[in-house]
Amino acid sequence: MALLGEETELPYERPPLSKDYLAGAKARDDFRFRSADFYAERGIELIPGERVKTVDPEARSVRCASGRTITFGELVWTAGGRARRLPGAHAIRTLADVDALKDELASASRVLIVGGGWIGLEAAAAIVKQGKKVVLAEREERLLARCSGRALSDFLAARHRAEGVDIRFGGPSPDPADFDLVIAGIGIEPEAGPLLAAGAEGGDGVAVDELGRTSLPHVWAAGDVALHCNPFGPDRPIRVESVQHATDQAACLAKAIAGDPRPYAAMPWFWSNQFDLKLQTVGLSHDHDEELVRGDPASGRFSILYRRAGKVIALDCVNMVRDYVQGRLLIERGTRVAPDRLTDPDLPLKTLVD
Ligand code: NAP
Repeated sequence: MALLGEETELPYERPPLSKDYLAGAKARDDFRFRSADFYAERGIELIPGERVKTVDPEARSVRCASGRTITFGELVWTAGGRARRLPGAHAIRTLADVDALKDELASASRVLIVGGGWIGLEAAAAIVKQGKKVVLAEREERLLARCSGRALSDFLAARHRAEGVDIRFGGPSPDPADFDLVIAGIGIEPEAGPLLAAGAEGGDGVAVDELGRTSLPHVWAAGDVALHCNPFGPDRPIRVESVQHATDQAACLAKAIAGDPRPYAAMPWFWSNQFDLKLQTVGLSHDHDEELVRGDPASGRFSILYRRAGKVIALDCVNMVRDYVQGRLLIERGTRVAPDRLTDPDLPLKTLVD
């Protein structure tokens, strides 16, 4: 077995990049998955520094940018996505990105962050705490417009502003020349090119079935790049950009390859830490038609429940671990509950489940 990747680092976790590693609270060796020995002992060959340019499903081979050709029995494509970049701006996607950013950050005092998604917000929290002046420019009229409800956007905007982040919505971004450092957190593009060029079905990502199989024989995919029908999502193929999804979908396809095929059915969840806030999401809120706020955002502890056709499909929880844990039962069971009961913080969610 071989593990091939463009980066030259031993495999590592990405979530700390925009959180503890950027904040200086974690060192680079603190978030590697495994030591080099671990892979060697299990006969896993690491092939770092290689980028696959083409895939030949007939010959069962990949060709790398270096010219090297590697044959395979099964190909698992977990290439994720590449950060959209802005000229002259840093991205936060790889360890190398954040090392380059930190080198400049040390002497910077005015920082512009473009994009009010997860990367932008986590970076703003980590950097404003270091005493820098931070401006965050989001082209929408609110934060996290792609994936969260209005109540969470408003709460986070207020909290970031209270911590000193200067948030600007809509309109053109401020002039980068006014800043010592610019960071772009403006989303990713799925790395599906070589598979699509080889004839795999897909578009915004590569299409996979419930086991992680692409339409090409012996080629599988999982994670940010995989366009799939999620049992907790809408009635159309979607990509889910989260660590949990990447890990669980990869485990599902690994079992299928090993002869234990079971359809992918993991409940999606996400988390983020900003300042002292613990943000947790469970479920997928796509196509929700109702947003209910449970608890008082002004207290710093509340949840948002998203419903579609009367059923709870997702929750965003702010410092509300209990709702996060119990809310997944509501999603799993598809229980219909009157809104006034769902929003009563004195009623534990588990007591509302059938
Ligand atoms: P993102 O969540 O897609 O957010 C990007 C934001 O930037 C969107 O609100 C987007 O608005 C905005 N934007 C795009 N172009 C812009 C421009 N030119 N000027 C101003 N705003 C612009 O992506 P991300 O924050 O870069 O994160 C990248 C990936 O890492 C995502 O997959 C994310 O889920 C993941 N991540 C997750 C976590 C977590 O779960 N805690 C933490 C960090 C990163 P539009 O919607 O209008 O395009």
